Amino acid sequence: MPYQIQSQCAACKKSDSFLIGNWPEHLGVYVCQKCQALVNIPVSDGKCPSCGHAPQLSELYDYSFAVPYLGGSFPGQLEPGPICPKCHQKPLTFMNTAHLNMGMVVWDPQKARNTWGRQYLEKAIFINSTVPVIKEFQLDAAKLFTYFNLDAPTPPFITSRMSFPMILDIRTHVFTAVLDRNPSALGSSLSPEELTAKFIGRAKAQQRQPVAQPKPQQEHRPQKQKQWWEFWK
Ligand SMILES: [Zn+2]
Ligand SMILES: [Zn+2]
Repeated sequence: MPYQIQSQCAACKKSDSFLIGNWPEHLGVYVCQKCQALVNIPVSDGKCPSCGHAPQLSELYDYSFAVPYLGGSFPGQLEPGPICPKCHQKPLTFMNTAHLNMGMVVWDPQKARNTWGRQYLEKAIFINSTVPVIKEFQLDAAKLFTYFNLDAPTPPFITSRMSFPMILDIRTHVFTAVLDRNPSALGSSLSPEELTAKFIGRAKAQQRQPVAQPKPQQEHRPQKQKQWWEFWK
């Protein structure tokens, strides 16, 4: 995790860069009208780093269905972003430009624990994105939460959305960092062989996923069973 994201405006061609997924450090992404920019709001003071404005938690931008994986892939059609805060002409689109080490999220338990009891968008999207991974690898959710130093969310939930790039990253991380050697550490009832087969099978399926294309208008294909990455359907 996290990923570095760059916004793009087809009208003024200007862009901003921000991170997604670094929930121990960020409350979320905010479209600051005063700064005319997309910024990360720090957990530490809740203020825009440039102008000092402290947005309401409900004003943060839910980027879940607007930000693709590296290379632009996304299992469906991307949602348009917010209207460009610089020129107010067009909705932004997003490019996923870099993958940063998940260590930023998992190697500082104290920083993560300092957020316990607080619910906010960046943490909510991360938590939601663990769900398909928990299901696929048949993990014990409580053990996975302990691994990531997460506190369990309580209703009302801030968002029900998940982030596709985040799901992929959580999935790869828990498999390579833990499950590959010790499936029971996260409470999986599957054998190492079963886990590996699932991991590799899906990795192959993902490679076959084309870059997101608009769907044709009429589709008469028989109803298929939902795959884990079709979470938004
Ligand atoms: Zn613009
Ligand atoms: Zn600002």
